[in-house]
Amino acid sequence: MAEIETSGFTKQRQAVLQVICESDDHLTANEVFDNARRILPGISFATVYNSLRYLKQEGLIGEVRFGMDASRYDKNLTRHDHAICNECGKLVDLELKIPDELLRSAAKRSKFKPDSIELTLRGLCPECTR
Ligand SMILES: [Zn+2]
Ligand SMILES: [Zn+2]
Repeated sequence: MAEIETSGFTKQRQAVLQVICESDDHLTANEVFDNARRILPGISFATVYNSLRYLKQEGLIGEVRFGMDASRYDKNLTRHDHAICNECGKLVDLELKIPDELLRSAAKRSKFKPDSIELTLRGLCPECTR
C-alpha cells in the first residue's frame, strides 16, 4: 500500500512538534494548526492532525482529555497532574506528591494492578477569581 507520508520525520511533523514544545499551554488540535501555519503556511489541518497522532504514538507528546472536551496536547511527558478552570477552560500542569495510600486504596477498590494515578483539580483560575 503506497502512502505519501511514510518517511519518518517530515518537516510538517517537525513544525507540529515545535509548536507544542514552544507553547506553555496545552493546545488543542485547532490551536496547533493555527500556530503551525505560521511556520509552514501551506500545512493542512489533516496533516496537523495526522502529525499529532504520529507524535503521540512515538511518545514525543502527551495527550490529555477531560470529559467531552477536545483533546489537548502536552509537551510534559512525565507523570503530572492538572488544574482546569471551570470558567475559561485554562489548563495548567501541577505536580503533586501522590501518597502511596491513595494509590493503594484506588487499586483495592478497582481491583486493578496500579501503575499510576492522576488528579485533576477543578475550580477557578486566578484570572477568573478576580
Ligand atoms: Zn479561568
Ligand atoms: Zn500537562
